[in-house]
Amino acid sequence: METPPDDWPYADEPTACAVCGTDDDRHITVESLGLVWGGAMDGGLPPTDVGDYSGTFEFRVCHDCWLSESINALEEAQTLVAREGRGRSGRPLALDNEKTAAAAKLDAERVAIATFRPLEFRSDPEREHVRSQDEAVESLLEAWFACE
Ligand SMILES: [Zn+2]
Repeated sequence: METPPDDWPYADEPTACAVCGTDDDRHITVESLGLVWGGAMDGGLPPTDVGDYSGTFEFRVCHDCWLSESINALEEAQTLVAREGRGRSGRPLALDNEKTAAAAKLDAERVAIATFRPLEFRSDPEREHVRSQDEAVESLLEAWFACE
């Protein structure tokens, strides 16, 4: 596996609760969320800064935070886009409030990268499609945080 750029904020390994920082042995590990969603985390990279990479995060959450901070909204979550929030073109239209609120409580420096690979584009339209998705997500996140 290639390694992420050095200046990315994320951890090498998930060793502590991404919300409160406790290293309690009783914890839940979430490893389904894609790299784009670092933009919702505290100190994470905005989608358009992820560049030509794809992958997933892995992070630990202690039992207390899982329930009392409602991080359980992220169980099995792959995207923060609301289920009904995808347009016909595939561009995301709305964020899932609960999931986005949960992701916003994660400290990016305690979140690790589980899988990581460079994107290989077969064509310029393909690259442009990914770019426009990233930009759409970024503007959704900006709007979401602006009305927090
Ligand atoms: Zn915790």
